[in-house]
Amino acid sequence: MREFAYEALPGRVVFGVGSLDQLADEVARLGIAKALVLSTPHQRAQAEDISARLGDRSAGVYDKAEMHVPIAVAKAAREEAQRLGADACVAVGGGSTIGLGKAIALEFGLPIIAVPTTYAGSEMTPIWGLTEDGVKKTGRDPKVLPTTVIYDPNLTLTLPAFIAGPSGMNAIAHCVEAMYSETANPIISMMAEEGVCSLARALPIIIQQPDNMEARSEAVYGAYLSGASLGAVGMALHHKLCHALGGSFNLPHAETHTAVIPHATAYNIDASPDTKERLSRALRTDDPAGALFDLAVSLGAKMALSDVGMKEEDLDRAADIATQNPYFNPRPVTRDGIRALLDDAFHGRRPTKA
Ligand code: NAD
Repeated sequence: MREFAYEALPGRVVFGVGSLDQLADEVARLGIAKALVLSTPHQRAQAEDISARLGDRSAGVYDKAEMHVPIAVAKAAREEAQRLGADACVAVGGGSTIGLGKAIALEFGLPIIAVPTTYAGSEMTPIWGLTEDGVKKTGRDPKVLPTTVIYDPNLTLTLPAFIAGPSGMNAIAHCVEAMYSETANPIISMMAEEGVCSLARALPIIIQQPDNMEARSEAVYGAYLSGASLGAVGMALHHKLCHALGGSFNLPHAETHTAVIPHATAYNIDASPDTKERLSRALRTDDPAGALFDLAVSLGAKMALSDVGMKEEDLDRAADIATQNPYFNPRPVTRDGIRALLDDAFHGRRPTKA
C-alpha cells in the first residue's frame, strides 16, 4: 500500500429524518446566546421557522444570500451580524447560504451551525469563496468549517428535480476528484466511493418518486460524504475547469459540474487505476465516464455547456484560463487536451470509452 497522510477535520454531524428538532438543543449545547439565521430570499420561510425554534437564542433572519457570495452581500451580512450582536450563524440552505455564513466566520470567527438543504457539500469543508469585480477568490481556513451540521432529509423534499439532479451530480464530482487528488488517501477514497454509490442509487429514485424518504436520506448521506471528501483533500482538473467556467463566464455552478464531470473523468481515469476500480465498483460498470453521463441524462440534466450559457467563441479563452497555472492532475494537463475536453462538454457528447 502507498504511504499517505490524512488529517481528519473536526465537526459534529447530526443526521436523520426530523433531526431539525434537535437544532435548539445543539445551539444551546454550544452556549450560543444569539444566532443570526441566514437564507436566500427564496428560503425565507424556512429561516423564519428556524428562528422561531431558537426563540430567545435567535438574533433574527438575514435572507440576502446569493450564489458565489458577492463581496457587497458578505459586507452587509457582517454588518448585520455585528449590529444584532450575533455570536453565531445558523445557515439554512445550499452552498450559497452556507458560503455567506463562511464569509461572516472568516471575518469574526463566529461558529456556524449548518442546516444543508441541497447536496453541494459546502457544510463539510473549510473552503470559503468571495466574489469581487467578477472574480471569485477561494481559500481554506479552519475558522469557516461549520461546528455542527444538521442533516435533515425532510428539508430536501422541496428540492425540485431540476435542482436535485445537478446538485447530486455536483456531489458526485467532489467524490470522483477526491479519489485521484494529489493528497488522496484510502480513508477519504473509501468515503468518496460510498458517496458515489449512495448518490447514484438514490438520485434516479428521487426523480421518479420525489417523496421517497429512504432515497432522499441516502442522497443526503452521499452529499455528506462528498463534502467531507472535498474538504479533506486537494482538487484537480475538474474543479479547476468548473471554477474557470463559473468565474469567467458566469455559468451556473451545479449545472456546469454536471456537464463537465463525465469528461474530466474520461480524461483522468486511465491515469488513476484506483479511481477506475472504485468508480467501476460504485457505478457497477466497466465504463465510469460513460456511466456518469448516462446517470446525469437519466436525471434530466442538461449535458451541453451550450445549454447552460457557454458561448462557442469563448472555448479557446476557457482552455487558456484552465491551463494557465500548472496544478496537480493525475494526467498531464495540455492545452490541446483541455480544448478537446471542452469541445465535448460544449456539445454534450457522451464520452467514448478508451
Ligand atoms: P444554492 O445554494 O445557490 O441553491 C440554489 C437555489 O435552490 C437557491 O435559490 C436556494 O434557495 C434553492 N434551494 C436550496 N435548497 C432548497 C430546497 N430544499 N428546496 C427548494 N429550494 C431550495 O445552490 P448550491 O448548488 O447548493 O450551492 C452553490 C454555491 O455553493 C456556489 O457558489 C458554489 O461555489 C458553492 N459551493 C461551495 C463549496 C465549498 O466547499 N465552499 C462546495 C460546494 C458548493
